[in-house]
Amino acid sequence: MPRDVDLFVIGGGSGGVRAARTAAATGARVALAEDRRMGGTCVIRGCVPKKLMVFASEFREQAALARGYGWNAEAGAFEWRKFRARLDAELDRLEGVYRNLLTSSGVTIHDARAQVSDPNTVELEDGTRVSARHILVATGGHPMRPDVPNATLGMVSDDIFKMEELPESMLVVGGGYIACEFACILNGMGVEVTQFYRGPQILRGFDDEARDIVARRMREQGIDLQVNTNVVDVRPAGVDRAEGRFSKQNDNGGSASATGSVVAKATNGAERRFASLLFATGRAPNSKDIGLEMAGVAVDRRGAIEVDAYSQTAVPSIYAIGDVTDRINLTPVAIREGQAFTETVFKGNPTAPDHNLVASTVFTQPELGTVGLTEEAAREQEEIEVYSTSFNPMRTAFGDRPNQVLMKLVVSRASRKVLGCHIVSDGAGELIQMVGIAVKAGLTKEDFDRTVAVHPTMSEELVTMQTPTRAT
Ligand code: NDP
Repeated sequence: MPRDVDLFVIGGGSGGVRAARTAAATGARVALAEDRRMGGTCVIRGCVPKKLMVFASEFREQAALARGYGWNAEAGAFEWRKFRARLDAELDRLEGVYRNLLTSSGVTIHDARAQVSDPNTVELEDGTRVSARHILVATGGHPMRPDVPNATLGMVSDDIFKMEELPESMLVVGGGYIACEFACILNGMGVEVTQFYRGPQILRGFDDEARDIVARRMREQGIDLQVNTNVVDVRPAGVDRAEGRFSKQNDNGGSASATGSVVAKATNGAERRFASLLFATGRAPNSKDIGLEMAGVAVDRRGAIEVDAYSQTAVPSIYAIGDVTDRINLTPVAIREGQAFTETVFKGNPTAPDHNLVASTVFTQPELGTVGLTEEAAREQEEIEVYSTSFNPMRTAFGDRPNQVLMKLVVSRASRKVLGCHIVSDGAGELIQMVGIAVKAGLTKEDFDRTVAVHPTMSEELVTMQTPTRAT
C-alpha cells in the first residue's frame, strides 16, 4: 500500500535527527516531528549548555592557580546574565544548524507534537495524519522529581539553563551524573552549594576508588556534600512566599526562578533555608501520551519502550532508539542506535548497535572518565590485577589548593586484557576517549607497557605502572 513517507521520526534529538538524515540519504522519504526545540536534550538542555557552564565555572580556580605562578590575577565576579545571553545565542545557532542539517538532507520537519495512531500512521497535533512505512520513536526522557511534599518548588536540570539570576545558595539533591556535575559548576560560579545524597557515597556504579577521590575533591572545593541524607519535606521560605515568588510555574510544573527560597527538611530532621533547590534525582523515558498503547507497543515498568537488539519493538513497523528505550542513556549511544537503525531498515544490512565498553565521563571538577569494568565488578567476574596510582599533578604544584588525580587500570590475570580504566583528573574526558580505543580493541597490559610514555604528563602513568597495587 502506498504511504505518505517511508519513515516518520518522532523526536528531534541527537538520535532521531541522525536516523532521519541517514535514512533520507538513502533516498527514503522522511518526515520528523519535534514539539520543543530541535536538537533535544543534549543540544538544548543537556550536554552542550552544561559543558559551556563547566567552562564558565572553571575560571575562578584557574585565576587562583595563576597567582601561584606569579600572575597578579583575579577572576572577579561572575556575571550570570552576561553568560546566559551568550549561551542563549549559541543554543539558537545550534538549533539552526540542526534544522539545516535536516532540511538539506530532504527531511520534512513538523514543529508539532506527534502521536502514533496505528502501526503505520502518525497523527500531528493539528489532526493531520501521515502514513508511514516505518515509524521511529526517539522521544528521549525527562528529569523526575522525587515524591516529597512541594517537590515542584525545586528546579530540575532543564530549568538551570533558564535561571534569571544565580542564587546565592543551592541545595542539590541526588548523587548521579547530573547532581555532581551541577554541584561543581554552581560551586565554581560562586554559589554556596549543599548536596544531599541518600546513599553512602556519590556516583553509585562507578569505581569506588574514583568515587572517593571525586567526593573528597568536591568537599575540598567547598561543596557541603552530605551522604546518607535525603530531603523529606520542602516548603516555601516565608519571606519569599510573602513576595509571591512561587506563583511562577514553568513547563515542567516547577519554578524556573532561582530566587524562590525554600526550607528543606533533611532525613536527620534538620531544616535549612536555601535560595534555590535542584532535584537531580534521575530521568524517565518520554513514552506517555504518544499512542504507544494504541499501536500495541510494549513499555516496561519504568516506561521504557521494549526493543530487540535491532531497536525493533513488538510491532514490526515501529522502532525506538535513545533514552526512551533506557538502554545506555548517552547521546553518542543514541546516535549509534540511529545509524544502526538506518543500516538495518534502509540499507538491508541488519546492524545491532554495540553497547559493550562504552566510555563516558562525569564532568565534575576534576572529571571522572571511565571505560569498562570497575575494580569491584571485575573482581566478581574473575581474578584481576589492579594498577592504580594517585598523586598531585605537576600543574597544580605551585597552587595553594590541594589537588589529586587517579590513573587506574583493571587487568584480567588470565587474558592480561585491560578490563577497565578509570581516570580522575582535569581533562579526563579527553583522556578516556583515547584509552577507550585501546580497551575496546582488547589490548593487554603488556600492550600498554610497550607504549613509550609521553613525558611529563599525568597519563604517562597508564603506560608506566609496573607493579600491581592489588591482586586477587
Ligand atoms: P542518575 O541515575 O545518574 O542519578 C540519579 C541520582 O538520584 C542517583 O544518585 C539516585 O540515587 C538519586 N535518586 C533517585 N531517586 C531519588 C529519590 N527519590 N530521592 C533522592 N535521590 C534519588 O541520573 P541523572 O539524572 O544524574 O542522569 C541521568 C542519565 O543521564 C545518566 O545516567 C546518564 O546516562 C545521562 N547523563 C550523562 C552525562 C554525561 O555523560 N556526562 C551527564 C548527565 C546525564 P541512587 O544512586 O541511590 O539510586
